[in-house]
Amino acid sequence: MPHYKVAIVGAGPAGYFTAQALQNARNADLSFSIDMFERLPTMWGLVRSGVAPDHPKIKTVSKVFEKIAADPNFRLFGNVEVGTDLDIEELCPRYDAVVMCTGSSEGKKLGIPGEDLPGSHSAAEFVPWYNGHPDFVSAPISLVGENAVVIGAGNVAMDCARMLALDPVELDPTDTAEHAIAAFRASTIRKVYIAGRRGPEHAAFTAPELRELPKLEHTDVIIDADAVHQAHERAQAAGEIEKHLASNLEAWRLIAEHPRAGHERAMEFRFLSAPKEIKGTDRVEEVVFGINEIRDGRVVDTGETYSIKTNLVISAIGYYAPHIKGISVRDGKVENKDGRVLGTNIYTVGWAKRGPSGVIGTNKSDASDVVKLLIEDLDSEPKNGGDITVVIPNSITIIDQAGWTKINEAEVAAGEPLGKPRLKEVDIEELISLAK
Ligand code: NAP
Repeated sequence: MPHYKVAIVGAGPAGYFTAQALQNARNADLSFSIDMFERLPTMWGLVRSGVAPDHPKIKTVSKVFEKIAADPNFRLFGNVEVGTDLDIEELCPRYDAVVMCTGSSEGKKLGIPGEDLPGSHSAAEFVPWYNGHPDFVSAPISLVGENAVVIGAGNVAMDCARMLALDPVELDPTDTAEHAIAAFRASTIRKVYIAGRRGPEHAAFTAPELRELPKLEHTDVIIDADAVHQAHERAQAAGEIEKHLASNLEAWRLIAEHPRAGHERAMEFRFLSAPKEIKGTDRVEEVVFGINEIRDGRVVDTGETYSIKTNLVISAIGYYAPHIKGISVRDGKVENKDGRVLGTNIYTVGWAKRGPSGVIGTNKSDASDVVKLLIEDLDSEPKNGGDITVVIPNSITIIDQAGWTKINEAEVAAGEPLGKPRLKEVDIEELISLAK
């Protein structure tokens, strides 16, 4: 029976679902060995460092990941960075296929004056900071002033705004990084604005995220009832309202009608607000928005502006795939056709392939589609290109599955007496020593 070797680069949802799709494709005539490479000593990608800590249910998918990793034909190479410790050129000849599941970790830029002032951050920095990603522990996030402004009308913006607007006691039973909990406790921010450049009917938030807002225990959520009414009218005038939009519009109505409790903390949605400039001398002091309106279904700049005083701006407007040596990135994605990197035995799945869209489960069908193509492309004889371990520099401590299990168990054990799902270790050297 031909036994093929596949390398998966990136231990996030796309990586694990690719491994699962390969495992599911095994039959009497086909089998695979899978080597998964991950640059960090910790696994699960966005499930660990992206998903908001107050959404623990979403993280239970990690149990599925661990089941996939328990297969005898699965090997983990954590703490090994492809493109730095190991070149793509070294992987390709040793594997029948190499699948890049490296996500999109770089924040899209607003491209407006003042964006680089201290106090202006991308969600690509803020989210991994509060989630304890080792590279972002020292990010200069300063939660000062009364207001914060989050730019973007997608679920990442919503996560950022909620994290800023929750009462920090709500974070105690979560796996939010300790440094971030301390900063949220000390935060003077009480009002968080979320600004979308189009109308509520165009927002990329999903209904479950909107519907949880009126249930927040310590935060008032504000949207102008008139803005919701007008969005509904515009959507109706544009034709039949499809299901997703109907659900969102209903969620907006519920938010607008929900009585305000007079909490000290509030989140306020501002629509038709296009960021024009971030002003400040030594740090952010103000964000200027152009006021848009919708004419004949088109978003039009009215030429008028308004501004919000703030010392913190988070832009959550999308992501790009990072550059990895040996991999061509175009339009923020690994250059590919349906997941195939043409002319190579390289494939790509997940945000690296299709851009930053979809929920974690979307990667499952994406992986299964790409694995079908990968199997179609396999040579009749496996390559037998030799083992990769001989090429990995001795100076690198490889975190294998047993090592990662030790880290995972140590974090869970440390969280238990505190009533947390885990207490995250955020220092690379400490993580490596936990694995030993
Ligand atoms: P997203 O859903 O694509 O939203 C991006 C937002 O940024 C859009 O509102 C977009 O507005 C806005 N934007 C883009 N460029 C802008 C600019 N120059 N100025 C102002 N606004 C701008 O992206 P995301 O929030 O990063 O989320 C990525 C994916 O992860 C999504 O599929 C999301 O649903 C998913 N996610 C899911 C969850 C969850 O299930 N709980 C949590 C987090 C993320 P326009 O529409 O006007 O372009």
